[in-house]
Amino acid sequence: MQVRNYINGQWVDTFKGDALPLLNPSNGEVLGDVPMSTFDQSREATFAAAEAFQTWSKLPLPKRMNFIFQMHQAMVDNHELLAESIAIDQAKHIAEARGEVQRVVEILQMACTIPALIQGETITGIANNIHGRVTKAPLGVFCGVAPFNFPALVFGWFIPFAIATGNTFVYKPSSDSPLFMQRMMQLIHDIGLPAGVVNIIHGNRTVVEAWYEDDNVAGLCLVGSTPTAKAMAEGCGRNGKKAMLLGGAKNSLVVMEDAPMDLLIENILISGYGSAGQRCLASSNIIAVSEIYDDVVERLVDASRDVTVGDAMNPDIFMGPVINAAAKKRIEGYIQTGVDEGATLALDGRNPSVPKNISNGFYVGPTVFTDVNPEMVIAEEEIFGPVVSVMKVGCINGALRVVNAQKMGNGACIFTQNSYYTEKFIEDADVGMVGVNVGVCAPHPYLPFGGIKDSLVGNNKVQGKDAIDFFTHNKTATIRVVDPEGGTGAASKDNSVRSCVAN
Ligand code: NAD
Repeated sequence: MQVRNYINGQWVDTFKGDALPLLNPSNGEVLGDVPMSTFDQSREATFAAAEAFQTWSKLPLPKRMNFIFQMHQAMVDNHELLAESIAIDQAKHIAEARGEVQRVVEILQMACTIPALIQGETITGIANNIHGRVTKAPLGVFCGVAPFNFPALVFGWFIPFAIATGNTFVYKPSSDSPLFMQRMMQLIHDIGLPAGVVNIIHGNRTVVEAWYEDDNVAGLCLVGSTPTAKAMAEGCGRNGKKAMLLGGAKNSLVVMEDAPMDLLIENILISGYGSAGQRCLASSNIIAVSEIYDDVVERLVDASRDVTVGDAMNPDIFMGPVINAAAKKRIEGYIQTGVDEGATLALDGRNPSVPKNISNGFYVGPTVFTDVNPEMVIAEEEIFGPVVSVMKVGCINGALRVVNAQKMGNGACIFTQNSYYTEKFIEDADVGMVGVNVGVCAPHPYLPFGGIKDSLVGNNKVQGKDAIDFFTHNKTATIRVVDPEGGTGAASKDNSVRSCVAN
């Protein structure tokens, strides 16, 4: 299979240049090639988007919205096809892949409310016959860059919001997981979206670096690791581009003495091992108060031992592989680091047993470290794999100190039934997203999604009204109404009625 660029309403069939093999992480088989597009090809895509902006931004809003409604319907009608694409090249377990597609369906529902959210404001009577108006205006071409782990979700965070508000878009999927966007783009093509409104270009940083000094580009968005977010922030800053850059994460889950235990263990498994731990909201640091620490460790290690690993398309297993050989090596390296640092390796996920026919896949099994010190590398750095570290603290304040010492501030969860702990945690945890008795604190699409500190490098979060703010600017107009007959415009007792009658 040849993964293709889509520029100016057409699939680009002939690609001459570098390409990377696309692998199925579940079995290591080569699925096809992903083009590594050049600087000039990247500029071709933004040129097409800039041309399209001229007419797309002027299209009456109901007509623009009609495409968003159709996009939503196309996703509903092709749910399984889209979910399978994620389970194949990203090797997200098929049940979770269905969940990701469903989440994007909900994001599109949110995007359908955009006409109500982009209404402007008017203030009259600033001075005699002068009033002021604010309209939420589109900015032009936005370019977006996706991570490998949420190929559908990140499409949903960027494209519907950008184009519904009148902008056009160039999107670079991750070269590890381009299949979703190949299928989604075909669905968008089939509903007849005008050429150039959405363009797809595959490649590496060369494609992105072409955008920094491109006068056609108004702003860039990224969901990816913090080093990539910082590199893009520099490029955007130097060139005055708007930037919405979500970075990496290291999330904590605090367990108080009154935590509902069955719910807790179920949620740690989903959070820590879902997507094989490759999730920006994975709770990889479990911080338990001393009264309950031993119980948490015993139950978590037992439950983790039962987690099954295998082909992401197999509905009977719990967890698929990690994305590629480099990720497997990096995660195994972190496991060794944890051992070398003196943490107790209570469950070792290296070299899990899988059936022979998938033994070339990139598997790491559930791994649990206990007796972890918050200053250890495994507690501080993003491992991005199915590795959970358990730490002991004395009380809620101790837990908050560990949470807040993290450089990243994406999400943090607490398990408790106590309203004092709940409210204190919501108020004092230095993160962008808090969860209470949930393992993955992903906010609904009506609400903003994003962290603080090193987890958010640009100024805006995705989803909700934050996304509208990012993809529009508040354009103001100061309007003096001049009477064409030379009057002041103020109603005159003498002639106003008479002139109205005469007209
Ligand atoms: P990555 O940063 O390696 O790559 C992300 C994208 O950026 C890819 O498309 C890649 O080609 C491109 N890229 C890489 N280096 C670049 C550079 N120097 N300049 C421009 N573009 C560059 O991330 P990944 O490994 O694909 O994804 C995992 C990371 O994404 C994790 O750190 C995870 O926490 C993060 N993530 C964050 C969120 C969030 O909501 N904050 C959500 C999902 C993933």
